[in-house]
Amino acid sequence: MKYYSTKNKSHQVDLRSAVLQSLPPDNGLYMPERIDTLSDNFYKNLSKLSLQDIAYEVSRQFLKEDFSGAEILDIVDEAINFPAPIVTLNETISIQELWHGPSLAFKDYGARFMANLMARLVSDEDKKLTILVATSGDTGGAVAAGFLGVPGVEVVILYPKGKVSPIQEKQLTTLGQNITALEIDGTFDDCQALVKMAFLDHDVNKSYFLSSANSINIARLIPQSFYYFDGYKQLGATDDHVNYCIPSGNFGNLTAGLFAKRMGLPINRFLAATNVNNVVPTYLDTGSYEPRPSVQTTSNAMDVGNPSNFRRMEDLYDSTQKMTQDIIGFSYIDKQTDFAIQEVSRDYSYIIDPHGAVGYLAAKEYNLLYPGEKTVVLETAHPAKFLPVMNPILGEINIPDRLVKLSEKEKVTTPLSANFDGFKGWFLSNA
Ligand SMILES: *Cc1c(COP(=O)(O)O)cnc(C)c1O
Repeated sequence: MKYYSTKNKSHQVDLRSAVLQSLPPDNGLYMPERIDTLSDNFYKNLSKLSLQDIAYEVSRQFLKEDFSGAEILDIVDEAINFPAPIVTLNETISIQELWHGPSLAFKDYGARFMANLMARLVSDEDKKLTILVATSGDTGGAVAAGFLGVPGVEVVILYPKGKVSPIQEKQLTTLGQNITALEIDGTFDDCQALVKMAFLDHDVNKSYFLSSANSINIARLIPQSFYYFDGYKQLGATDDHVNYCIPSGNFGNLTAGLFAKRMGLPINRFLAATNVNNVVPTYLDTGSYEPRPSVQTTSNAMDVGNPSNFRRMEDLYDSTQKMTQDIIGFSYIDKQTDFAIQEVSRDYSYIIDPHGAVGYLAAKEYNLLYPGEKTVVLETAHPAKFLPVMNPILGEINIPDRLVKLSEKEKVTTPLSANFDGFKGWFLSNA
């Protein structure tokens, strides 16, 4: 399987380059040259397949020229080792919990799979691989947990001082081993700018083999398609009237769902649920894509003003009109999200996080338009990751043991200014 750049289909590379480079030099995004329909046999047996069986079958299509069947089995067993259970709220709306992994967010699926692939792809390199990643919260925790203890890989995480939640900060700063956290006196955009400059810096690249782990990496997208098949199977669905509702920011999760549909999973529609950062829902309504600076909300992992995967979505469709046949956009203000958290707790005794709550609102609104259709809302993180939002609405919610343990650990960080020379100096003498 070759991977092409969305900016130039004739720029094609192999899996190794696509995964290790993350971004093509022309600043497009890598896409697989084909997304094939899975076999009739796969669909006939789907009801008997585990999440790992599904992961194996789907991965083979993308990895089989680079890894043996036994290696793909190992990758899947090691990376996809936690479930994605469905919880039914009512006759039409179900929730699929994607937070049973180490960092309690769906990003664990992508991060663990990518970490495992990268470790195998660099095992014959002499230079150590250094992963540089800027995070505004959940990405850093998932990447840190995914790469922890992976031989031959160092991870350096840049996060904006005072701008990630206390639990998220602990997830970045307490692991030790091959994970280093830099507390940058600046914004998330500053962190991202430092990472970009490091990739362009001659001295840094002379001595280090750098890679990135943000959501544009194709190795994070592929595993996010697995749980769509698994959710469909758990519903016992046999027809094409199941919709998936995806609380979205950079639209990686939704794009992975589009991959699943291309592989033949009979998903009816995708509901793209956003907070007020609604560039994509607006595009779906008007046909014009106008990125703008993000606005801070209570579902902050979706505060994205220029979703990086939009170019992949466009690449999958010939026209806006075709895209709107498959995807409907919905957007909500924080007050509505707060009410939804309250309503789901009151009516269904289920604690939904602020991101899932945005999805719930979209599923409910969709139901008024198309009564009777089943919709699965992806619950993208555990509510205890967002106590400052949850507790004022529901009172003190339960915290899983591992988060309690984490909050008792001592954080270890290196404080740095947002100045590139300072960062470069630290990097060349420490990384
Ligand atoms: C990252 C994240 C999202 C957004 O996912 P995208 O793939 O960027 O659209 C939604 N919810 C949570 C909790 C997240 O961490």
